[in-house]
Formats: sequence, structure tokens, C-alpha cells
Amino acid sequence: MTHLHQDAVIIGGGFYGAAIAVYLVKQKGFKHVVLIEREAALLTRASYNNQARVHNGYHYPRSFTTAYRSRINFPKFVRDWPQAINQDFTKLYAISRRNSKVTSRQFERFCREIGVEFRAADPVLRTLFEPRLIESVYVVNEYAFDTLKLASWAARELAENGVSVRCNTHALTISKGRETPLQVGVRTNSGTEQLIQSRYVFNCTYSGLNQFAGDFSGIQSSLKQEITEMALMKMPDSLCGLGVTVMDGPFFSIMPFPARGLHTLSHVRYTPHQHWCDQPDLDPYEKLRSYHKASRVERMVRDVARYMPDVWRATYQESLFEIKTVLAKNESDDGRPILFERHTTLPGCYSILGGKIDNIYDVLERLNEVV
Ligand SMILES: Cc1cc2nc3c(=O)[nH]c(=O)nc-3n(C[C@H](O)[C@H](O)[C@H](O)COP(=O)(O)OP(=O)(O)OC[C@H]3O[C@@H](n4cnc5c(N)ncnc54)[C@H](O)[C@@H]3O)c2cc1C
Repeated sequence: MTHLHQDAVIIGGGFYGAAIAVYLVKQKGFKHVVLIEREAALLTRASYNNQARVHNGYHYPRSFTTAYRSRINFPKFVRDWPQAINQDFTKLYAISRRNSKVTSRQFERFCREIGVEFRAADPVLRTLFEPRLIESVYVVNEYAFDTLKLASWAARELAENGVSVRCNTHALTISKGRETPLQVGVRTNSGTEQLIQSRYVFNCTYSGLNQFAGDFSGIQSSLKQEITEMALMKMPDSLCGLGVTVMDGPFFSIMPFPARGLHTLSHVRYTPHQHWCDQPDLDPYEKLRSYHKASRVERMVRDVARYMPDVWRATYQESLFEIKTVLAKNESDDGRPILFERHTTLPGCYSILGGKIDNIYDVLERLNEVV
């Protein structure tokens, strides 16, 4: 075993781990920061396999705080990651006549309350929807991000700021250190083990937040883990320049996925395949790896085409399967607050779950308070 002293070890090379590492060097003057990632490359897990929606609030009529924070963070995200933003499509939100948890009037009032723009879609766009099922259609201000461009940003910024990035490396333990407050035990894919001594440890492992041995006793908040499927589709010309979300209940979203030049199709009923309450001895990544991954795209298309018949003409490419990790407390309101937990028995160790990409500002605000 070799030893290495660091100012901070960041575990998890997703968007959050990368952005936090860069922040610590740039804003806090940390000199020695190491980023540990078990995959072969950065931003290949949830930060790649997602709906790519830059939230602006519309999606959360049941959680005012989440909606409002999104609306505040949206322009900042667009300003700070302009190269990754795709605005090149018309985004529609539609309200279902039946089974919706929100009516058109409520949706409009909610948009006014959080201060986001919306307007009734023109008749040409409305014809894409089945009028017996859809009550109203709005054009809104919501964009998509290119997950590959975020990954390029991360690689470049980390290199420029001297962060040592170690891919193919699995962090296994977090413990009290001997020479520094903390130490992280890692193992590379080739089997080399190492103990990294550090002042701070930031656990940014998303689905893996509880999967550590050593003195780490897990996080306090309960997490819900979910195996999700989003179908990558080539849309017909009539839907190519659009993103569509039908609210609010057992409906669907069609979002541009700029990294592949395709759209994702996700459905509230069919995208989640399986869920469970997170436990330290049940590794979500292993669970997904051994899952059969039988696609439900046909069921998605069948239901979505009832609302938007042109979807019959979309062609399926493949599915993105990923674990989605959310705070169990937000099961009913669909809210996405951040988790930022200090481990009292391991001073200097923090576990962080952003929940959605634009929450980075809420995370950095908390980070600024503790470091
Ligand atoms: C289906 C789905 C749709 C979504 N849609 C959206 C959306 O439209 N808009 C939005 O803003 N957000 C969306 N999200 C949420 C968003 O993807 C996440 O909030 C964000 O990507 C989390 O970033 P992260 O860095 O925390 O996680 P990740 O990108 O998953 O990074 C965590 C990293 O930690 C690594 N890791 C885990 N354990 C270890 C370990 N022990 N040692 C070393 N490395 C480890 C993993 O390999 C991974 O790369 C969606 C998520 C899913 C799953």
C-alpha cells in the first residue's frame, strides 16, 4: 500500500464530483485534490443517462420550493455552461384532461407564481395532440443540455486546475486517518490498493452514497433507488424540433438528447422498472448490472401515441438504463432538494446528492459555508 496526502478526495466523477473539485481549487485555493471514479471515464453514469432537461421550474407544480429554485438557477446554468446548452427546439407542456394532478388553470397560476413565461401553443402545434385527451398546450422556456459537452468541460477544467483524476478506481472505505483527519481506501481495476490521506472527503457517488466500509456509517436520509429506462428515439419530422412534457401524473416526456442527436422517450408508468429502499449491503450498480433490461418501449409508444399519434412514426434506437436515486421523503411531491450531509463521526466528510443538474448552485452555496 502507498500513501498520499490530499486537501480533498472527491469520490464520484459525475457532474457533481467534477464541479465540486473545480470549485475547491478555483474558489477555495485547494492545491491537492484527487477525484476517484470507478468507471473508465467521467460523467458516464447518471450525468450521461438522463433526460437532459435544464429545469426552469415547470416540471414541479407539486413542489413550489423545487420549482422556484429551478427558476432561479436556470439562467445561471445557461450563463455558466453555454457550450452545453441546446435551445434549438420548441418546448411544450401539455395538460391532460384526465388523471392529471394539475388543471390548466392551476398550471398557469403556478407559472405566474414562480415567475416563468408561458403562452398558449398555436393551432398548428395543437394539432399534434389528441384534443379529447389533452386540455391545453403551452410553449415554455426550457432547454436541454448536451451531456457529452458537460463531460468535455469537466475533463478540461479538471486538467487545467490540476485535479488528479483517477478513473477505473473504486473507493471502498472511508475512515478516520492517522496523519490527516480522513483516509479513503481505493482499489484500481488492476487490483492495486491504496490509502489516500485527506483533510476533506466529498462523497458524490449518487447511487453509491451508502456503499462504503470503514468508519463510514452511512447517510441519515433515506434514499429511494429506481432502475429506469429511457428509450432513445428518432422522431419523425413533425416532432423533431420539439420537446414535450404532459403533466402531471402517469404521462410522459419527449426530450431532445443532444449528445446523440436523438430524443429520449420516458413514461411515468414504464420508465421506472423496479425500486427499493437503499441499503448499505445492496450495491445499486451491481443490481443494475445483473438486471435483465428488457425494454418497455412498445408499451411507452402505445400509450404516448394515444396523446400524440405522430409518435407511431418514431423509430426506436436503444434504451438508456440507469439507477435514479432520490430522497425517499420526496416520493409524493416529486421535489428535488439537495442532500448535503455532514458526517459527525468523520469530521471533514460530507455526502452530497444534487438531485438534478441545476441544483449545483445550491450545493456550492452549502460547500462555501463548510469549507
Ligand atoms: C433517468 C434519469 C433522468 C434524469 N433526468 C434529469 C433531467 O432531465 N435534468 C436534470 O437536471 N437531472 C436529471 N436527472 C438527475 C441527474 O442525472 C443527476 O442529478 C445528476 O446526473 C447527478 O450527478 P452526480 O454527479 O451526482 O451523479 P453521477 O453522474 O451518477 O456520478 C456519480 C459517479 O460516482 C461514481 N461512483 C459511485 N460509487 C463510486 C465509488 N465507490 N468509487 C468511485 N466512484 C464511484 C459513479 O460511477 C458515477 O460516475 C435524471 C436522472 C436519471 C437517472
